Amino acid sequence: MGSDSFQPIQGMSDIAAPDIYAWQRLEGIARDLLRRYAFTEVRTPVLERAAVFERSLGVATDVVQKEMYRFQDRGGRDLVLRPEGTAGVIRHLCGRAQEAHDARVYYLGPMFRSERPQAGRRRQFHQLGVEAIGAPRPAADAEIMALQVDLLRAWGLEGFQLQCNTRGAPGDHERVATELRARLTAQHDALCPDCRRRLQANPLRILDCKQETCRELVDALPPVTEWMDPAARTYLDEVVAILERLEIPVVRNPQLVRGLDYYVHTVWEITHPGLGAQDALSGGGRYTLTFGKQTMAGVGFAMGLERVLAALQSQGQQAADWAEAPQVWLVAQGQAAFDENLVLMQSLRMRGVACAMDLQGRSLKAQMRMANRSGCPYVVVRGDTEMEQGTFQLKHMADGTQRAVEMPELINTLCHPLAAAEQE
Ligand code: AMP
Repeated sequence: MGSDSFQPIQGMSDIAAPDIYAWQRLEGIARDLLRRYAFTEVRTPVLERAAVFERSLGVATDVVQKEMYRFQDRGGRDLVLRPEGTAGVIRHLCGRAQEAHDARVYYLGPMFRSERPQAGRRRQFHQLGVEAIGAPRPAADAEIMALQVDLLRAWGLEGFQLQCNTRGAPGDHERVATELRARLTAQHDALCPDCRRRLQANPLRILDCKQETCRELVDALPPVTEWMDPAARTYLDEVVAILERLEIPVVRNPQLVRGLDYYVHTVWEITHPGLGAQDALSGGGRYTLTFGKQTMAGVGFAMGLERVLAALQSQGQQAADWAEAPQVWLVAQGQAAFDENLVLMQSLRMRGVACAMDLQGRSLKAQMRMANRSGCPYVVVRGDTEMEQGTFQLKHMADGTQRAVEMPELINTLCHPLAAAEQE
């Protein structure tokens, strides 16, 4: 096997130290914040029936048409590696009809899209998403938008922008599509090949095409809200007014549509200038989804965690800054000290102190090198003299000081390092 065999397939990554420290930090902050907003986690399978996505995202959407990893299993079932989180979560909630009607859930995990890998576009990426089930109410939409901004701030992100728009009520969708077709059919030849296809199947998507020629045509169109019932505009006005009261900055963008068919009323996106061409950190909106006889209305968002990390990195945050070294490294000279350090290590761990030592019988010098490299704030050295006297050399790595201590002081310093530092 060549060295390529050790690489994951293109567009997917192993996540290990030091990057994993940044992931764990993001996840820890997010779980804490979501608890404060009264959300509970749901974990749905990564593999779903294809119909789960076709029915909910819309058969004409890019995700369903081009981006799903889809295959048949041995039983002939048509399966898909989930390309997004909402459809699976709503499938789950529809099966628990009564208790689901005011559910507040979040998910965090890998999503899969069969795209050509490029900066910011991966085949396996991770999303944190929330879904708040309930009928359309501007306050419900605003709460979720505020949660999302709160979360980005808690992670330390700055300079992002929240943009919003409305997709209108379900009754508005056909009128908007008809108006768009009427205006853009005359320009058919100037549209990019994707948008020519979208013109019949999903004309709204032309509004957020990134191709220059399509952009020029779109810029000349009136805002889509002109073709909607005035109630759609009133709804969005209320969402924006609530966000202003909550001091959440928001910008209206009449061309924002979002890619999936299930949206109604509010849609939004958060972008960050540190991300380059794929500058969307996150998208969200209000939706109505039907599975079998159950229909669920809700509002939610999905945030791409790789992009959040890239945005944090563009601000100078490094994954290695979040590494958590053990509190103490134990070093032994001789077999007797090694044997006693093993027991000490176990008892420290039981007291909640993170510690480590060499188990490969390395020399004193090599053990000290490991201790230095580990980044532990304390190193404990035990040699013949210490064994005879029943003491330990306790080295404080920040200032290089070292002194002989007995067991009670050792335990006290390692278990309560802050209190011990104050006493010194
Ligand atoms: P979407 O479900 O397409 O609205 O995506 C929601 C968020 O997930 C986006 O704003 C991105 O941050 C992230 N995302 C979507 N597709 C990818 C991808 N292929 N690679 C990395 N992140 C992605």
